[in-house]
Amino acid sequence: MLNPWASEIWRLFLLVILTLLVGIFTGKLLWVALLATMGYLIWHLVNLVRLEKWLRKGGGSTPPIGNGVWGELYYHIYRMRTRNRKSKRRLADVISRFKESTSALPDAAVVLRASGEIEWFNGAAASYLGLNAPEDIGQRVINLLRNPAFADFLTEGDFQHSLEMPSPVDEAMILEINMVPYGGKYQNLMIARDVTRIKNLENMRKDFVANVSHELRTPLTVLTGTLETISDADDNDTLEKWRRSLGHMQQHNLRMLNIVDDLLMISRLESDDNPHEHYPIPLAAMFSTIYDEAMVLSDKRHDIRLNVAPAISSICLKGDEKELHSAFSNLVANAIRYSPAGGLIEIRCDLNDTAFVFCVKDSGIGIAPHHIQRLTERFYRVDTGRSRIVGGTGLGLAIVKHVLDRYGAHLKITSQVGKGSEFCCYFPAMLITTGTQ
Ligand code: ADP
Repeated sequence: MLNPWASEIWRLFLLVILTLLVGIFTGKLLWVALLATMGYLIWHLVNLVRLEKWLRKGGGSTPPIGNGVWGELYYHIYRMRTRNRKSKRRLADVISRFKESTSALPDAAVVLRASGEIEWFNGAAASYLGLNAPEDIGQRVINLLRNPAFADFLTEGDFQHSLEMPSPVDEAMILEINMVPYGGKYQNLMIARDVTRIKNLENMRKDFVANVSHELRTPLTVLTGTLETISDADDNDTLEKWRRSLGHMQQHNLRMLNIVDDLLMISRLESDDNPHEHYPIPLAAMFSTIYDEAMVLSDKRHDIRLNVAPAISSICLKGDEKELHSAFSNLVANAIRYSPAGGLIEIRCDLNDTAFVFCVKDSGIGIAPHHIQRLTERFYRVDTGRSRIVGGTGLGLAIVKHVLDRYGAHLKITSQVGKGSEFCCYFPAMLITTGTQ
């Protein structure tokens, strides 16, 4: 292809020669030269107007046809625009794919400019951070998330570490904020993750270890002291004292054993999330055993009644007999422990369309409403002293909850201080079977 500038110079050269010839021939060289220059300028002007018109329309259509250097200019501009449009489309695709994938993220994602204005955020950001589209777009994030720790985090700009703060939507929700600079530090991607469950688990684990040590320390101290007393004794006259000390030792030893047994039960339940062996357990027989045990524990101090619906006598519950027995008898034992002598305790089993229900109702000391939600936590006791006196370990209801969770069952507690409590377990009806197979 001929160099456009060469053809343009040729064009100019021919125009000059033609002007000279016509000028000399007519004897009016100056006028002819002026006319030729004007013609040349008008030609350029026309091309310029065409270019401007084409660009004003967006330059999308095919470019105007031009000669020489103008044709070449139109072609280059057209190619540049086509290339730009393609890469723009590719970029838009990438952005929409990014938006789609981040919208599906369970974590909140917010794109921030370097100055801290919000450019974009996903759906989770609305529920975790309370951001609203479109009014919050363009707002400075520091003005919307008003938390001093968050403000310091942004000002310090040390994004190597994350920040933990409560969600502005729900104080009980703990968020872990991570800031990822990108685009040459001109933009930041802010990720907020709900870590409430992890935090609670962490706290529970810490409390648990502390409680275990605390619970085991007193009995161990008593045992150590008593053993020291025995080993220091140098005459036989202390026999009476020994007997008392040995009694203490036995009592505390038993408590320790109970705690350890309950802890072992919990860790067994925890280490094995799903009960493997589901055998049909004849309910009538199990409740009759539980009733007999309750009578022994109460030692005739309470009026204990067993009220089993007729339908129960012929059905079985599919599960692990040992753990279900442990859950039910824990509830009955609590009713006996926390009811004064002469109290009424009612054990009730019923069956309806959706559930098998086991309830233990007592006329005991009752529980204040603010304790109820925490009763199934390990070592949570309304009155630690009283629980110890009656031989409680603080783990009974934690075991009940663990067992019920394994069967998709749930516990409902209703209570009134001074009047009594009712603990009801609801098992899905699908666990009920009529046969023993
Ligand atoms: P504990 O071994 O101390 O009884 P649990 O986990 O079985 O531990 O129960 C936790 C706490 O719940 C008890 O310490 C007691 O304060 C309260 N509680 C449980 N059952 C009853 C009840 N039937 N009546 C009153 N309080 C109860």
